[in-house]
Amino acid sequence: MKDMNVLVINCGSSSLKFQLINSLSEKVIAKGLCERIGIEGSQMTYTPAGGEKYEKVTPMKDHTEAVRLVLEALTDKDHGVVKSLSEIGAVGHRLVHGGENFAGSTLISDEVIQAIEECNDLAPLHNPANLIGIRACQELMPDTPMAGVFDTAFHQTMPEEAYLYGLPYRYYEKYKVRRYGFHGTSHSYVSKRAAQILGKDYADLKIIVCHLGNGASVSAVKNGKCVDTSMGLTPLEGLIMGTRSGDIDPAIIEFLCNKEGKSVHEILNVLNKESGVFGLSEGFSSDFRDLEKAYRAGEAPSIRTMKTFAYRVAKYIGAYTAAMNGVDVICFTAGIGENSPFIRAMIASYLGYLGITIDEKANEKRGEEICISVPESNTKVLVVPTNEELAIARETVALL
Ligand code: AMP
Repeated sequence: MKDMNVLVINCGSSSLKFQLINSLSEKVIAKGLCERIGIEGSQMTYTPAGGEKYEKVTPMKDHTEAVRLVLEALTDKDHGVVKSLSEIGAVGHRLVHGGENFAGSTLISDEVIQAIEECNDLAPLHNPANLIGIRACQELMPDTPMAGVFDTAFHQTMPEEAYLYGLPYRYYEKYKVRRYGFHGTSHSYVSKRAAQILGKDYADLKIIVCHLGNGASVSAVKNGKCVDTSMGLTPLEGLIMGTRSGDIDPAIIEFLCNKEGKSVHEILNVLNKESGVFGLSEGFSSDFRDLEKAYRAGEAPSIRTMKTFAYRVAKYIGAYTAAMNGVDVICFTAGIGENSPFIRAMIASYLGYLGITIDEKANEKRGEEICISVPESNTKVLVVPTNEELAIARETVALL
């Protein structure tokens, strides 16, 4: 394994998250976030390992400016962590949509940038922002190798029957309308880690990963390959999320357009930003900490919201158990999956048919790797904190 520092970049339309990770120790050397890029009040938060976090409110007119500030912070003589940019051996970019062009990570080249651009239609908010991040790094670190790690790549192994929709086939042929799935880096990392924790061969296991964060998705991983996942052409399908609806009857869209006098675009905005647990709780909160507190206080909106959320997850677990003809291990990860014993127990209450009994004491733990099913359980239930940045850094080093 090469000893190098990898800068992991995750560019959104107005934000940029970064971590500098050493490939040998796999430790985070520094991390931070630039927010409100191109908007008034932009600011950077930067935390060197073992040092103090600091915030800098400064104009960032674009992503190139944001990357410039990040590089300045990393090499700053007072709070920097490297002496010069030559100590950054590679950059790993988190990329959202690789369409059918990418079934794995790739080194960035002009052809790769073109192939990512071809997928812009599929992720109009994310891909252009990702590309801006790549171009900004190319401008400021022209000699540093860069890799792209796609959210969709891990799911490219899905068989046709899992990725096709029941639509006229010509829409797949003409426009590539199909299930792609997202959070792939997380599903890949967590499923592999689950096999390691159990001391079993990844290629022998049937694994269901529940990535439950503000965005949420489930995947079925059979013999080391993803065979199905709940997000679709876009990240709107599947589970009920923080503000996204997940699965609905598609006819609801026209129905609501007519009733509310809104355009399809406006209703899609409602499905993306005002729905999910936020919408179900009548705008109370999209944060499970708030919902759980209110549930315990007996408040009806939060009770129905959490029950509906948990039921949907349990339904997907059932579907994926059927898809794989069994399941050896179910993993919980991401903000809610790692930190909410309450939701984990609610979901597990549906899983008696799999011979699962939850160890209540173990399930009290938050944010750490732990088996929360009793030893006699036929199917194991694990909490596996995800680490997408580390997975991106590993992929980047492997490609070099
Ligand atoms: P993520 O998108 O993975 O960062 O997850 C963010 C979500 O995790 C938040 O919106 C919360 O709903 C949830 N979360 C974080 N910490 C806790 C906690 N201690 N208990 C319950 N939910 C939590």
